[in-house]
This record gives sequence, C-alpha cells and structure tokens, in this order.
Amino acid sequence: MIDDVDMAQAQEQADRDAALNVTLARVALANAPRDARADLLCVDCDQLIEAARIAALRRTSRCAACAHEFERRSSCWK
Ligand SMILES: [Zn+2]
Repeated sequence: MIDDVDMAQAQEQADRDAALNVTLARVALANAPRDARADLLCVDCDQLIEAARIAALRRTSRCAACAHEFERRSSCWK
C-alpha cells in the first residue's frame, strides 16, 4: 500500500506545482506593464500562456494548445 501513498503524494506535489505556476503567472501579469501584459496572454484564446512556455520560448503569442492548432492550420496551407 506504500505505492498508493507515494502516488498520492506525487499527484499532490504535481497539483501544488501547477497551482504555483498559475500563481507565478498571475503575479507576473499583475506586475507587468500594460504593454507587456499582452505578451502573457494567448492571442487566440485570451488565456494566460503557460509560464514554463514563456520561459522556454522567451516570447510567444499563443498558448501551447493554440500554437499547436496554429501550426496544424499553417501546414495545411502549404
Ligand atoms: Zn490559446
């Protein structure tokens, strides 16, 4: 039954990490200058772009889901 406890704890940790990520993004959004706020929101769905995604790409205008959809649409046009 130790495995169940470990899994529950791992899930709990993942939930905490996700919550922390959202909190950090909201803090960044609240502190960001007006112009910079647009950089944190997806141009397609208007949701906060994942903080990890912004950190990895430095600058992006879409969240992961919309970027994926955008790339899918773009490749159809070729
Ligand atoms: Zn989006």
